[in-house]
Order: sequence, then C-alpha cells, then structure tokens
Amino acid sequence: GAVGGQVRLEELPLREDLRGRTPYGAPQLDVPVRLNTNENPYPPPPELVTDVTEAVAEAARVLHRYPDRDATALRTDLAAYLSEDTGVPLTAANLWAANGSNEILQQILQAFGGPGRSALGFEPSYSMHPIIAAGTRTEWVPAPRRSDFSLDTERATDVLAEHRPDVIFVTSPNNPTGQSVPLDDLRVLVQAAPGMVVVDEAYAEFSSRPSAVRLLDEFGHKLIVSRTMSKAFAFAGGRLGYLAAAPAVIDALQLVRLPYHLSVLTQAAARAALRHAEQTLAAVHKLSAERDRVREALVGMGFSVVPSDANFILFGRFEDAHEAWQRYLDRGVLIRDVGIPGHLRVTVGTPEENEVFLAVSKDIASAGL
Ligand code: PMP
Repeated sequence: GAVGGQVRLEELPLREDLRGRTPYGAPQLDVPVRLNTNENPYPPPPELVTDVTEAVAEAARVLHRYPDRDATALRTDLAAYLSEDTGVPLTAANLWAANGSNEILQQILQAFGGPGRSALGFEPSYSMHPIIAAGTRTEWVPAPRRSDFSLDTERATDVLAEHRPDVIFVTSPNNPTGQSVPLDDLRVLVQAAPGMVVVDEAYAEFSSRPSAVRLLDEFGHKLIVSRTMSKAFAFAGGRLGYLAAAPAVIDALQLVRLPYHLSVLTQAAARAALRHAEQTLAAVHKLSAERDRVREALVGMGFSVVPSDANFILFGRFEDAHEAWQRYLDRGVLIRDVGIPGHLRVTVGTPEENEVFLAVSKDIASAGL
C-alpha cells in the first residue's frame, strides 16, 4: 500500500465540523458519452489551440518570476467581454478572476461569510455552495423552491427577513434545475437581502434573460455577479472564473486571496481563449437549439422535463432515479444523479451524443420508468 496508508481519516485531528462530510464528487468515468458535468462538448477550435499554445510558450519565458498578482491585463479583457455581453460599461476595477468560479465563491465567503455568519441558498441548487460554506465555517441555511423548482420571490423575501443571512446565493440559470430568474425578481431579492447577494451566472451565456450585471450600478454595495469560462467558453480545463462587482468589493476580496493565485500560464491561456470568444460563443447558440430539441424529444417520450435556460436538462420522473442512472451508464451514457428523487440531469452534448442519449432514453421509457 501507499506510505502512511495505515492512517485512517478518523484518527486525524480534523475539525469537528468537517467530520463525516463527503467531498464534491461527480464521477469521472471513461465512457463513450459523457453528459454529466455541464461542459461544452465542442473542443476548442484549432486556431484557439494554436493561440493558447503560443501565448503559453511566451509566458513560459518568464516563469522564474511571479505572475501579475492583480491580473490586470486579464481583468481588462474580461471587462471588455462582459461589457459587450451585458451592455453595461465595466472596467478592470469591476472585475476579479480566480481559478474557476468555485474559487471566486470561496473568496466571497472568506470575506463576507465565516464563523458567526450565515449564507442562504434556494435548494436544490449548486451543491458546492453549502460545501464552500462548510469549508469557510459559514453556517448554511437551506431555503425552499416551489415544487416545480422555480423561485418563489415572495416566499424568499419572508425567508430573508426571518433568517437575515449575511450572504445569499441566487443561481441563475439554476444548476441542476435549469430555470433562470427574471431581472425584476432579482431586484426584489437584492432589495430584501440584508447582506451580500451572489448571483451565480455560471450558465448565463446559454440563457436568453438579461444578466444581473445590469443591476450593479444600482446595488454596488451588495451585489456580486459570478461567472466562469468553464461552460460557454469551453475552458473547464483551464480553470478560470470571474466576477463583476463594485471596485470596493474587489478591494475586500484582496484581503483573502492568496498572492499570485492565478499562474502566468493561466492568465496567458485565458486571455488567448478570450480572443476567440465570438467563435466559441457561436457554439453556444447551437447548444441552446440542441437543448430545445432534446427537450421536445424527451417530452415526446413521456418524460416530464423542467424548463431549462442552460446547457443541461433535469427530467423524470423515474421510479428509482439511481437505477435509471445505472441503466444509462450500462449503455455507455454517463449522466448525473443529483439526488433529487425521481429525476436525473443530462448535459446537452453534440447532436451525435444527444442521439445516443435519446435512443437509450426511449428504451428506458418504453421499458417503464
Ligand atoms: N456555479 C455553478 C452553478 C456551477 O454549476 C459550476 C460548475 N459546475 C460552478 C459554479 C463552478 O465552475 P468552475 O469552478 O469550473 O468555474
């Protein structure tokens, strides 16, 4: 066995509040059709690969030096992209970047959550929100959605008044259910929130609704919009998440970020990938159309499908969702059991991948769910 393999986790002087918890764990299995982690199924185009390679080669020449701690050039490029995407004039001072939006969210809770503070989310939602809360010792307050998984704004404002959380998470479009929150509802939530509001827009580019970035000018003292290059930008392996907020919020995050957290290589690669935004995002429109096609097909087979504004679909109802998940896997199709009774989540893939998924779905539907 491994050196030290006889030591058991239970013997370690781990923090009491972390004992018995399970880590984030989407299975990474080598099967023909992988539709379980909401990635963009299209690999980067050759021009982008060449551009990233050249940019990284250039960056390699200065690897003996620490990177720009403030990632100013990258933040400038992100500001240009996000301004274009949302129509809101942003500058580098409004942007912050980290290794995936997970790190962004962690920095937010390090600065605005922590011991003695609480964070609230409307469940089911992104499973990392409570895990990051646990890691930062922020008390997690789960709040409900309607039975159709949509957000009940009126009820939400009551919950906020009752619990007065220091931070709230609003995921729009919501993972794993797919619905996004209209701007008017977001405004109501932000007004009602006693503390910071994090709108997690990891899937924003797939949605037809306007971004919460539009509310930043009005609510700079409490609003943070989190984004990522992992989904629409087909850059999940590059690890680049970012946020838009008032400059003062970014000053606050500087207090908790590790120095030089974004490597020279990451900054160079992300900037190169951003130069190809237009081309990459063209695939996003194809994926949104595919999503609607897959949805119709599932409905035609008798599945109930939650309306989705993202690149994945939550569907059911299965007698035993985990059993159904295994049946997909046995046919070489990896989708996601997100733990919602009777439901599974599938990421929209290439048309070919979706065909395989739909063929298996048809067999499962006719065999009885
Ligand atoms: N937010 C949501 C809602 C997500 O679904 C994900 C990825 N599954 C993330 C944030 C984090 O993604 P990343 O760290 O790759 O940016």
